[in-house]
Amino acid sequence: MSDITDLSFSELKKMLQKKSLSSTEITTAFLDRIESLNPELNTFITITRDEAMQSAKNADKAISRGTATAYTGIPIAHKDLFCTDGVLTTCGSKILSNFVAPYDAHVVSRCKAAGLVSLGKLNMDEFAMGSSNENSYFGPVRNPWDKTRVPGGSSGGSAAAVAAKLTPLATATDTGGSIRQPAAFTGTSGLKPTYGRVSRFGMIAYASSLDQGGLIAHTAEDLAHGLGLIAGHDSRDSTSAELPVPDYTEVLSDSLAGKVIGLPKQFFDANLNTAMRNAMDAVLDVLKSLGATTVEISLNHVAEAIPAYYVIAPAEASSNLSRFDGVRFGYRADKPTDVLDLYERSRSEGFGSEVKRRILIGTYALSEGYYDAYYKKAQQIRRLIRDDFNRALASCDLIFGPSTPSTAFGIGEKNSDPVSMYLEDIYTVATNLAGLPGGSFQAPLVNGLPTGYQLTGPAFGESIILNAAYQVQTATDWHRLNPGGL
Ligand code: GLN
Repeated sequence: MSDITDLSFSELKKMLQKKSLSSTEITTAFLDRIESLNPELNTFITITRDEAMQSAKNADKAISRGTATAYTGIPIAHKDLFCTDGVLTTCGSKILSNFVAPYDAHVVSRCKAAGLVSLGKLNMDEFAMGSSNENSYFGPVRNPWDKTRVPGGSSGGSAAAVAAKLTPLATATDTGGSIRQPAAFTGTSGLKPTYGRVSRFGMIAYASSLDQGGLIAHTAEDLAHGLGLIAGHDSRDSTSAELPVPDYTEVLSDSLAGKVIGLPKQFFDANLNTAMRNAMDAVLDVLKSLGATTVEISLNHVAEAIPAYYVIAPAEASSNLSRFDGVRFGYRADKPTDVLDLYERSRSEGFGSEVKRRILIGTYALSEGYYDAYYKKAQQIRRLIRDDFNRALASCDLIFGPSTPSTAFGIGEKNSDPVSMYLEDIYTVATNLAGLPGGSFQAPLVNGLPTGYQLTGPAFGESIILNAAYQVQTATDWHRLNPGGL
C-alpha cells in the first residue's frame, strides 16, 4: 500500500468510509510529514497539531456513532488570510503577525461544519500581493520540485503543501492568478470559482471586486468535492451569489463529445515559447481524442488586462489596507509620540515594500485629477475585457490557454524587476477582471518541471471546467507525477 500521505482527498474519503483508516491515523501521518518537511519548504506559518489531533478524535467518534458527514475526518489546511477563530491569522504580514482572529471565515466554518480536520495555516505573499511567495514576512516558500525555485504566489504555501503531500487539500485565493499560477508551478490542480460563488466573509481583503476564495488539490475530482463544501450564499458577503450549489461531482464523467474549446489567438502568439506551446498541444490532443473540437477565438483587449489590473487592484488595496493603523489590531509601533506618529510608524514598520508600493500606486490612481485618467479608464477596459469573454463564450464551452508563460523561476530571479513579476499573470488576470471561473490543471513536465493549462468557463460554469479536467486526468497521468527527493 502507498503511504497515507500519497492519497488524494477523494481516496482518503473512501478509506474513511470503508473504515480502512481512522482520521487519527491520517491526521498523524500528515502532521508527521509536515514536521519533517516544513523546516526546508516553509509552507506552514502555523501548525495546529493539538487542535488537529482533537478534531481527528472527534471525527473518529462521529464516524463510529454514525453522525459523520461524507467528509468527516479528512485533513485540510488554510491560506493564512482566512480568519480562524483563536488561531493566528497573519496574511503573511508583520502588521498582522500577532493577530488572533476572533471568528472563522465563512469558508473555514463550512469546512469545520463538514468535519474536516484543519492542520494549520499556510504561507503566502503579504496581503496576497505577489507571484512568487517571496513577499511573505515569514520568508519564501520553496518549490518541492526544485527547492531553489519559487512555488508561485500568492497562494504558494497552499500549492507547495499539496505538491509535497503535507495536506490533501488547501484553501487559497485568487485576485489575479494566485490559485492558478502556483498550481501550475507545483503540478497541482487549482480552481478559482466565479466571483460571488464563495463567500469572502472573513477573508482578509486585497482587492474586493477581484478577490475570490478557492482550492488547490491533486485532482479535479478533489476540487469538485471541496467546492461543493465551500460554495453557496452567505448573507455576510453582499456580493455572494444567491444561486443553488450543484453537486460538482455528478458531471465529472460526462463525455466531452461535442464540447467546443476556444483558443484565443492572443494566447497562442509568438510570445508563447516552444516548450510551453508543445505542452499545451499535448493537452489539446487529449481533449480532441476525448471528442472535443477546437475553434480560434479572439480576446481583443486581453493585452490591456495587466495594466488595468495594476490600477484597479492597488486602488482597492489602498482603501482596504487603511484599516491597519496600529490602533485596533495587529502590530503597533513602540512608544509613539502622538497619534500621527503611531499611524505612520506602525504602517511604515508593519508593511513590506511591495505592499507599500501598491498603496502608493493605488492612492495616486484614486486621487483627484488622476481618478478619471487612471481608475475610470481601467474600469472601462475591464468592461471591454468582460464583453470579449462573454462574446467568445457564446461560441465555445471553455477557453483554453497556458496558465503561465514559463515553468517556475528561481528564488530571487525577478525580485528586482516588479514589471517582469507582474507579467507572470498575463494569462490569468483577465479571468478575474471578467469575474469568471478559471482552473489550472497539470500539463506535461517541461525540463522536469510542472506546467499547467488553464480552462476558463462561463459564469457559474465550474462544472464544465471540472468535467473537462477530470476527463483529461482520466486519460493521462500528468497529475500523478510527484516531486522526487522529499
Ligand atoms: N500576482 C498578482 C498580484 O500580485 C495576483 C495576486 C493574487 O491573485 N492575489 O497582485
